[in-house]
Amino acid sequence: MSSAARTVSPADRTAATPDVDDFTRPWWDAAAERRLLVRRCAACGRAHHYPREFCPYCWSEDAAWEPASGRATLYTWSAVHRNDLPPFDARTPYTAAVVDLAEGPRMMTEIVECPEAELRIGMELEVAFREEGGGVVVPVFRPAAEVSRRARPSGA
Ligand SMILES: [Zn+2]
Repeated sequence: MSSAARTVSPADRTAATPDVDDFTRPWWDAAAERRLLVRRCAACGRAHHYPREFCPYCWSEDAAWEPASGRATLYTWSAVHRNDLPPFDARTPYTAAVVDLAEGPRMMTEIVECPEAELRIGMELEVAFREEGGGVVVPVFRPAAEVSRRARPSGA
């Protein structure tokens, strides 16, 4: 048995086309419904992202989709002023970022609705969803509407 599902050849997709295969389709379907999913391992209890069929921490196959809260904090970012690949060329400048989801995993994404000067490490974010065309919806993050003082979930 092959352990890795074949994905679309890189030559067949543009930078804007997500890497969708049978395994990651539920994640993209959920995003199209404005829901963010993570995978959580029943063996070790840890959540991970991007979605994998095996838990990246303990290699258990006993992982399943679960809804994420959509809350995250900003880990790091980079303002992108030049990108020649469509559709990013028309979008510059934009803020590429890595965020820490409340569930634990780190996720590469984009920060929207926030000037670069107002970004700070650790700031509270909430998920937003951007229609990319062709029915594809990509999760992005924006400053949280209300800064929550709640503690992070235990075990995250
Ligand atoms: Zn695990």
